[in-house]
Amino acid sequence: MAKVLLIAPPYRCWGVQVIGTWPPLQLAYLAGIAEESGHEVRLVDAMNNGYSFEDVKTDIAAWEPDFVISLDYLPVSGAISTATVPAALETLAIAKSVDPSIVTIIGGPHPTFLYEEILRDHPGVDYVIRGESEETLRALLAASATGTVGDVAGIAYRADGEIVANPMRPHIADLDTITPAWHLLDWSLYHYNIEPWGRMASILTTRGCMMGCSFCSHRAFWRGDWRARNPEKVLDEIRVLVEQYDVEFITLIDPYPTHDRDRWERQLDLLIEAKLPVHLLMETRVEDIIRDEDLLPKYKAAGIIHMYVGAETSTDEMLESLNKGTDVDMNKRALELLREYDIMSEASFMIGFPSETWETVAHTAAEAIRLNPDIAVFPVITPMPFTPLYDEVKDRIRVTDYSKYNLMTPILEPYEMSLDDVYRALAKCYMTFYSHKMREVAELPDGFKRRYMFSAFEQMMKDYGDRFDFLREGMGDGMPSDMPDLETMRRGHGG
Ligand code: SF4
Repeated sequence: MAKVLLIAPPYRCWGVQVIGTWPPLQLAYLAGIAEESGHEVRLVDAMNNGYSFEDVKTDIAAWEPDFVISLDYLPVSGAISTATVPAALETLAIAKSVDPSIVTIIGGPHPTFLYEEILRDHPGVDYVIRGESEETLRALLAASATGTVGDVAGIAYRADGEIVANPMRPHIADLDTITPAWHLLDWSLYHYNIEPWGRMASILTTRGCMMGCSFCSHRAFWRGDWRARNPEKVLDEIRVLVEQYDVEFITLIDPYPTHDRDRWERQLDLLIEAKLPVHLLMETRVEDIIRDEDLLPKYKAAGIIHMYVGAETSTDEMLESLNKGTDVDMNKRALELLREYDIMSEASFMIGFPSETWETVAHTAAEAIRLNPDIAVFPVITPMPFTPLYDEVKDRIRVTDYSKYNLMTPILEPYEMSLDDVYRALAKCYMTFYSHKMREVAELPDGFKRRYMFSAFEQMMKDYGDRFDFLREGMGDGMPSDMPDLETMRRGHGG
């Protein structure tokens, strides 16, 4: 039996981390596999427990693991995980510095594709898991003891001074055969920071996506595959989280849970029947929301309170160039339906394209106001190095530090804007949208939506000190004069 330590690296950024803390689900799945294989397992969430790299080092030295495993990983989406890669690599280098005999393993989308770069430049990494990681980890832990890693599909490593990549492993046929080791988490770390607040968990109900959006890593990472879990098993897992771990919010972190309408309706019916006291947050594509107009009352009854959709850009031409398969009218219709059925909507609008100008930025902010989601986010277009978008825009890339690939830091320099301009434009989009939105929300009667949205505004505008403070930095010289005061608005005198 070996000692296996899984570490979520101490990486933090503005964005998803200001509205909540999510458990490291992918590491919990790996922890489950390692335990099932008979090993002694610990999971350390340095992303959320406040650890520094020095704390990580102390922990590794104290526990004396045989294996240390990290992933490129952000808790809410596999699509933006590249930003965590440097922290994961440093974590593994620290493990090697503590004891060179510790076997170090990294996995996730970015290492899957850039394994050569990682193994060439980072001697602290012994193995890269490429693709779906659970069964590969099981095989690697076993083979490492017998010196037969050459037979393990889905890994890359160094041998005789060469980098070797074994063949990829087929995907797991039945996703319900793997279970996260929920009992290894410190549940006090995970909470949703939006009123009515509560303990947060995340689950996967499907894996993969077959769509071909040029900026997204899911299709490439999952090789165009989409697999769904049995809805009954998903419900069982939700029940465990609610009843054993007192979870009150669950995020479905799969990007496309609604693809199979019949299965999805079965999932909703089971949730409605179970009447569990839990709120659900999720994302899906706008065409499925339009398709499911007649099912939206079931979405609501099943406990779905918050729906994220990728509106992505403000024009049909840009949507087409991103191969999104949607148009602005579909975005508008889907957001209208969510409003009609009283489900909180969140939509993203990317900025910072090579063709970006101050005029197109203003158009994007205006389109966000016209589409009127409850919450708008404005990610900076970020060419993850293994996406189709990367090849299209690589001559405009000005930032090569992967830790900055967090959707908040401009990476591409537009032809007619500087990187600083893009950063200011990003803050301007937030300010423009929310100065409108806060006035609208202030007019709402007191109730779930008004309180939910004011607490979301509060989290976004809070000063996070040296952890992250995006909006104030981005505006440079402070809030614009037309930005309403949050407290005045909340008290109902700001309309
Ligand atoms: S729909 Fe597009 S953006 Fe969403 S996961 Fe699939 S490929 Fe990615």
